[in-house]
Amino acid sequence: MSERNEIEARLARAGGTEAVTLERRSAAGVDVVSAVIERQGRGFRGLYVAHGLDRAGRDELREAVSGGRADLIEVPLSDARQRLGRAVLAHRIAGRQLPEWAQAGHELLGDLRALTDAIDDVYLCAACERPLAPAAQIALARQAGQAAEALACPGCRGDLEEDREAERLVAWAWLRLLAGEPRKTLVLAARAEALRVDSARLDALRGAAMLKLQNPVQATGYLRRAVEREPADHWVRARLVEALTCAGYLASAGAELARLVSRRPALANHGNALAAALADARRAADGGDPLRLRAAAESFGAAA
Ligand SMILES: [Zn+2]
Repeated sequence: MSERNEIEARLARAGGTEAVTLERRSAAGVDVVSAVIERQGRGFRGLYVAHGLDRAGRDELREAVSGGRADLIEVPLSDARQRLGRAVLAHRIAGRQLPEWAQAGHELLGDLRALTDAIDDVYLCAACERPLAPAAQIALARQAGQAAEALACPGCRGDLEEDREAERLVAWAWLRLLAGEPRKTLVLAARAEALRVDSARLDALRGAAMLKLQNPVQATGYLRRAVEREPADHWVRARLVEALTCAGYLASAGAELARLVSRRPALANHGNALAAALADARRAADGGDPLRLRAAAESFGAAA
């Protein structure tokens, strides 16, 4: 019977979280993948897999997953997988590790890579579950998915929005960058430019992608222009500090670092560590240890 291979998907919502379960009957019992997802933001609270459960075990797991606060209702498998795919991206953008079995892919999840590849918006409206506007996707991703308040889509806020294809592409490129896929970012940036997005608006993206691809000299050019365009953007200035350091432009790196810390004193502690590494390297006859400098730059970049 084909029923053996059928995957049943269920969904429960309670407060700020949702629970998704995928189940399949096998000869040994029921195989279950279940997930608790933060509805706004940071991906999974928990992601579990269990094999060959009996009925009681399955009910217990479901109860644990949905917290007993909401019933799990059956939904189309594609809908459940879409929710899981978004959560995977949000999880990665938040800098959190997926369990190994999920990274490797799991039969019940399907082709996770293909699934996440096709997702061009990660964050949904708290009220209606439609995607947030492209600019909000970018802003939220740059805060690693942490919003100060529940965010609403333009429709729910009563704004008129021009949801242009090009804006969606720019947001998609940012989401990919922050999920750790710089090559995909560059491809999407090129597609956005082909749709007449001003290339100056893509400098920050391209510079940050080049930096991730260990191409700090090229990154520096893009990031310098981006900082000139948006001097108050601390995130981009921090990438510039990182790129200058990795490219060996130690004096410029020190100067940009001082500028950034004066604008954002909260970074002073992390900034001091990098400033010390830069000063040591400038004193050393051979220009210092490049690996140590890069480590100092990366740890500063991660904090900024
Ligand atoms: Zn909405």
